[in-house]
Amino acid sequence: MLCAGLTAASAILPASAQQQAAKLKVVTTFSILRDFAGNVGGDRVEVTTLVGSNGDVHVYTPTTGDAEMIRNARLVVINGLGLEGWLPRLVKSSGSNATVAVATHGIVPRKVTVGEILSRDRGAGSVDPHGWQSVANAKVYVANIRDAMVAADPADAATYKANASAYLAKLEALDHDVRQALASIPVQRRMVISTHDAFGYFAAAYDITFVAPEGVSTETEPSARDIATIITQIKKEKIPAVFLENVSDPRLMRQIASETGAAIGGTLYSDSLTDEKGEAPSYIEMVRHNIRTIASALAN
Ligand code: ZN
Repeated sequence: MLCAGLTAASAILPASAQQQAAKLKVVTTFSILRDFAGNVGGDRVEVTTLVGSNGDVHVYTPTTGDAEMIRNARLVVINGLGLEGWLPRLVKSSGSNATVAVATHGIVPRKVTVGEILSRDRGAGSVDPHGWQSVANAKVYVANIRDAMVAADPADAATYKANASAYLAKLEALDHDVRQALASIPVQRRMVISTHDAFGYFAAAYDITFVAPEGVSTETEPSARDIATIITQIKKEKIPAVFLENVSDPRLMRQIASETGAAIGGTLYSDSLTDEKGEAPSYIEMVRHNIRTIASALAN
């Protein structure tokens, strides 16, 4: 009798409430995956993300709320390639039965090479986890997320496939626009100094060389002597553009610009989207912002 009563109750729920209840619950590890999952899932999914906008996915400490979120999810979408070292323990402790989908499945992993810009968690020979920075790879991510949603919720397969096709077409156009933005800049001029360590796939895909500042820690603010070394390096290697995120002193940036003639770039976004009011609220806007910033610095 109780069962019959419940069935009768659900039958008289408004259609919108029934759809709400039927949504596929998806958890992603960081904001870029949230954006991909939202584009593929559309109104058939409820996507939450563990590391939100402007957060650092490399060094995240999960909360008890996160375990709850994963326990309630049907699908967990992760980057893989060692990005979320904190995740396996979280999934295990949550007791979740969710499927864990690895969005980078099938991409060619890039090895970090000697002399590259290195951060605390990556040594030469280790795998670079920032696969999404090449738009061709982003298409692989989206195809994997589509397939995972279709498997988790076959009833809505047609919607996931249609949404993915539409979004993949936008990524195709984005890739074309990135190449177009760089087309008039000779490859030998596509050289920037950067403290960012996240652009290896981007650099490889679009023939841009990211040079690490010599003898300068990427973790701390460079000293006046470090800046003098960078100036020498820019002159010697004829580097046209400089992006130093950890230099907050505008006088040092002006000094670099006036002594070298190099263009000082703005902010490049790598591992996290911004909120709606920021410069990179979606993956597509992030890539467009980065390429605009780099191309305009190199074109000067
Ligand atoms: Zn990173």
